Amino acid sequence: MTASSLSNPSLDESLVTARGRLATALAEAGRPDQDARLLAVSKTKPAKMIRDAWHLDQRDFGENYLQEALAKQAELADLPDIVWHFIGPLQSNKTRDVAEHFDWVHSVDREKIARRLNDQRPEACGPLNVCLQVNISDEPSKSGVNLNELPSLAEAVLTMPALRLRGLMAIPAQAEGLDAQRRPFARLRDALQALQQRFPEAPLDTLSMGMSADLEAAVLEGATLVRLGTAIFGERDTR
Ligand SMILES: *Cc1c(COP(=O)(O)O)cnc(C)c1O
Repeated sequence: MTASSLSNPSLDESLVTARGRLATALAEAGRPDQDARLLAVSKTKPAKMIRDAWHLDQRDFGENYLQEALAKQAELADLPDIVWHFIGPLQSNKTRDVAEHFDWVHSVDREKIARRLNDQRPEACGPLNVCLQVNISDEPSKSGVNLNELPSLAEAVLTMPALRLRGLMAIPAQAEGLDAQRRPFARLRDALQALQQRFPEAPLDTLSMGMSADLEAAVLEGATLVRLGTAIFGERDTR
């Protein structure tokens, strides 16, 4: 597909730039090329842009708002091997749709929600990939499990057969400068390593961390899935 036939001609360029940023960050971290991948965060953006990104070989897409996501998924049902990630806040009344329509959930932060996803996951879909969201900057008003409660939540999720516990996700408080940005990501990496040691049989291979503003810091601390919205699709209209 040529850039001029895209609904947003700059999408081609943005994706190339984002991939370049990720490749450079991996190289600077001394990590192999394919060690992390881009999750394109498409919230508030039209289905047409997702389709265009798919034609540019992007496969993983992240959505935050359930009704918006379901509408776009219906429009894009013809695209093979697209991978849908739910990354928004998750309340009980949304679990059924998430269990039925997504491949991944990054925002599980309590057992009750995990239990519902497990019970509501259709068998034909196979296990739902789950990341536990950690409140890594310890902000009182933020979602995410606290680090001290993480092991028991992980242990509970690992007993749920329709869920596959893949790793951890965090959205740290905004910080200026590489060193300050790295600290919370390092804590998340340490938390994942502790879980890997405690549950050696678990398929814990994912650190979902890093966004448009802090991708480099996240990759230096071992991110395997970086969630880029603005850097790929441009500024969002405020809702
Ligand atoms: C919106 C969002 C992103 C993308 O943020 P950008 O700064 O636009 O890259 C990533 N992760 C989550 C959980 C989000 O809600």
